[in-house]
Order: sequence, then structure tokens, then C-alpha cells
Amino acid sequence: MNKVQTVSKEALAVLDDKIQLIQSNQGSIYLVGPIKLPINLYGETVVFQWYCWLQTKEVKEDIHQIIDKLSSANLAELQQSSVLIYGDFEHQEDALIRMHSICHTGDIFGSKRCDCGFQLKESMQMIVDHGAGALFYLANHEGRGIGLFSKAMAYILQENGYDTVEANESLGFVDDSRNYDDAIQVLKALRSKPVTLLTNNPKKLAALIDAGLPISGRTPLWGDVSEFNEAYLQTKIKRSGHLEAEAEGTCPNA
Ligand SMILES: [Zn+2]
Repeated sequence: MNKVQTVSKEALAVLDDKIQLIQSNQGSIYLVGPIKLPINLYGETVVFQWYCWLQTKEVKEDIHQIIDKLSSANLAELQQSSVLIYGDFEHQEDALIRMHSICHTGDIFGSKRCDCGFQLKESMQMIVDHGAGALFYLANHEGRGIGLFSKAMAYILQENGYDTVEANESLGFVDDSRNYDDAIQVLKALRSKPVTLLTNNPKKLAALIDAGLPISGRTPLWGDVSEFNEAYLQTKIKRSGHLEAEAEGTCPNA
């Protein structure tokens, strides 16, 4: 939807201190927020602070110019990433973070082909229980970065005997093309102290450390535990040293 008029002075005055510019080698990130977001988490209402960001190649310091430019860009066709903050994220000594890769089927539809939907909710609950943290929802990470249409094709291949890696590679994609640079820049704008990463995936931990995320530790995020599989999972945790790698191995996003 395109606007014909330029942004009003009144709106600019409201937005001026709610949009910050983060400059990087790759261009700039505009971070808008915080916005109060009450969320239904397992039947309880929990208030998070929500921020959304937009990455562009050019740098414009004047937010008037940015907003005017946005109105002519077809942003609804391109997904933007965002982050939910809980507690005193900037100052609390230890904060939990989750870098959650978007999973349309798991997060929105509750698909049981993967446990992404469960991990999304569970990580939010763990952050709340911890007292401070952030959930980064990374919109350009669908299907380990191959996109939704390609993920659908990969699922068909998987139904025909391919594993996740083979399916992605036979479609011409590298197995994992996710990039965390913009999320890390945003994190650094919101907090300078190190963070504890919520993940079961040692490769993701290594990728984030390589990308410059200041990490003080890692907390595992167990899979879809229910009355049906809890005893089984507990036994595996106690008796098997390699559940970590398996636990996030069920989804193309893991
Ligand atoms: Zn998933």
C-alpha cells in the first residue's frame, strides 16, 4: 500500500525518540520500539517490550527521510525480524536469549513435524521465569534460510526418503545459510553485558560466537515434553550424552 502524503510533523515528534539508527559495515539498521506487548503465555498474560527492525544498505540519519522512503517500499512483501524483551534486559547481570528462526508451519500452524512452535513458547516462558531476557524472532531464517516455498519442496523430498540435509542440497541450497549479523547488532544496542543462549544446538552456539555474540553460557531447551514422553526424555537425558544434537534435529530450521 503506497501513501501519497509525507509523514506529518506530529507523527514525527512521537516517533523521533522511538527509532534508533544502528550503523554497521553492511549499512544501517533502524530499530523501532519499545512497544508494550501483552502476550498470552500458557494462559497467563505476560507483558513484553517489543522492538522491530529494518535493515537497509544505505544510511540516512534523518528519520523523516526514512519514513518517507518506507511508504514507497513494499514492506509487507518482505518480512521484518523483531525481538521481545522481558525484564531489565539492559542491566540484569544474567539474561537469557533465544535466537528463534521463523518456522511458518511450526510456529503458526503448530505442525508436529518439528518442535519449533513448542520451543518458541517454551523459550518465552524460560525467559520470564529467569527474570530478564530476549527472544529474537528471525524472519529471514525460514527453512534454515531457504525460504518457505523451498521448504515445502524439501518436505516433499523428505516424504520420499531424503533427509533434511540431502533435501536442501538436492534443491541446490547449502544446508544452513542463516545469518545472525543483524540480530547481534540489535542485541548489542539493547544490552552490552554477555548473555546466556537458549539452544540445544552446538552448531548454532558456535555460529553465534563466530559472529561476535558475547556469550557467557548456554542453557538447553528440551523438546516437546508432555505426559506422553516426559519419562522417556528424562531417561535419555540421564543416560545419553548426545541428546543435545538430536533435540533440535527434527526441524529444517534447527
Ligand atoms: Zn520448525
